[in-house]
Amino acid sequence: MVLTNGNEIFKKAREGKYAVGAFNTNNLEWTRAILAAAEKTQTPILIQTSMGAAKYMGGYELCKNLVESTVKAMNITVPVIMHLDHGNYEAAKECIEVGYNSVMFDGHDLPFAENLEKTKEIVALAHAKGISVEAEVGSIGGEEDGIVGAGEIADVDEAKQLADTGVDYLAVGIGNIHGVYPANWQGLNFDRLQELGDAIKTPLVLHGGSGIPKEQIVKAISMGISKVNVNTECQLAFAKATREYIEAGKDLEGKGFDPRKLLAPGTQAIQDTVEERIEWFGTPKA
Ligand SMILES: [Zn+2]
Repeated sequence: MVLTNGNEIFKKAREGKYAVGAFNTNNLEWTRAILAAAEKTQTPILIQTSMGAAKYMGGYELCKNLVESTVKAMNITVPVIMHLDHGNYEAAKECIEVGYNSVMFDGHDLPFAENLEKTKEIVALAHAKGISVEAEVGSIGGEEDGIVGAGEIADVDEAKQLADTGVDYLAVGIGNIHGVYPANWQGLNFDRLQELGDAIKTPLVLHGGSGIPKEQIVKAISMGISKVNVNTECQLAFAKATREYIEAGKDLEGKGFDPRKLLAPGTQAIQDTVEERIEWFGTPKA
């Protein structure tokens, strides 16, 4: 299967009231684990790189080539969407150039009129090449790669104006946050999600999908969320499995220090996490 854009996949998800997972990659192991989960469950998947992860890995072109080559090497048969997560204007343009299938232009920190204007520009550039676009309205709380959001709830009228630009999916701030959720978190704002879902037929995106209880995610999906972003959960799973391996002294037994052995439990833990989330999201077989 070649890489594909997200248009039809997410339109069908919104109509069918299920979601497709969007998982962040950081390296080869992450990429293989996410793709293995998609192949095992036979479901479409979205792999995304943040600007920070792309910088860490060596740039957008390298990331796109890594995912593309890994899809080929692993004989992946399900649709895979290569996406830029939280891109600024320059990053979105660069990813359109190097051939990502989908880009997020995150203009939430700009004055709304400028967010709207720049989203229109990105939509025109991307759609000319068959690339999907995600925009953001309101903001996601917490911190991701230096982008700090106060967690502003999305305004319905602004959301409508952004949807009218022709974006293929729209990230909405509904009390969700990036990273680990604090103990006193208020939960998702379902009243606002209901208003957004009624007003807009564009597939809606829930960021900060790690740490939201399953019942809330399932309810949000029934109300119009079609793409759920998961990042932190995979990082925690990888770190926990790797720590257990080292704390058990396995790196000191035989060739246990070989990275192919040392990184294996963490890689499997990412795959298990992705498979579990695919089940939560109700993603049907491709
Ligand atoms: Zn996000």
